Amino acid sequence: MRRKLVAGNWKMNGTRADLAEVQALTTAFPAPTVDLLICPPATLIAQMVTATQGHTLAVGGQDCHANPKGAHTGDISAPELADAGASHVILGHSERRTDHAETDAQVRAKAQAAHSAGLIALVCIGETLEQREAGQTLAVVGTQLAGSLPDTATGANTVIAYEPVWAIGTGLVPTLPQIAEVHAFIRADLAIRFGADGATFRILYGGSVKPSNAAEIFGVPDVDGALVGGASLKAADFGPIIAALSAA
Ligand code: PEP
Repeated sequence: MRRKLVAGNWKMNGTRADLAEVQALTTAFPAPTVDLLICPPATLIAQMVTATQGHTLAVGGQDCHANPKGAHTGDISAPELADAGASHVILGHSERRTDHAETDAQVRAKAQAAHSAGLIALVCIGETLEQREAGQTLAVVGTQLAGSLPDTATGANTVIAYEPVWAIGTGLVPTLPQIAEVHAFIRADLAIRFGADGATFRILYGGSVKPSNAAEIFGVPDVDGALVGGASLKAADFGPIIAALSAA
């Protein structure tokens, strides 16, 4: 049985004042029946860990370097994230793949570094609109999945996020059958590569999840939760999404 997970990606949004949003969530959900994760800017990780002490809400990073330490100005290593109290790290988000030209091989190396540091890697994959319109969605997702997951991946240390690039921050959402098709494909691919353990990986959907569409998305087979960007910034939006997953 896979435990459901809802993860918030705050991206480059968040100062100390925004910790009040997390405190509102932990107050509203004192004993959640689903896993909760928020990945704030790195500057807030340690403070968010302190602010949520005693609650099951987990805190994660949004990227890590493939090396544990060294001369890489501006980068953050997986052991450093762990030291700050993070338990997860988002890797291969489409904004990193676009803004920093990250390749599948780099994402795989980062995921391996995350596993070595004891972090759960949340690996993002997804097609562009051009790729979907060209009928390449499953081929693209399959290639990204194969290339981005290291052999150290297990259902316990890795979560997959299917995020169509064209749905991120746009308000556009695939149809439920389109989501179902890709999640079933990912599930089958995981079984081929990881055998029985493939059934234990959680597969999240990400891309314009909102309170108004969360329940129907969570009803799609093989959707084990969501990775949420914009709607994770305010407790008033994220709370109903958590409630929808809890009821699914
Ligand atoms: C994301 O950035 O991972 C994301 C899904 O963003 P949004 O929910 O804003 O589309």
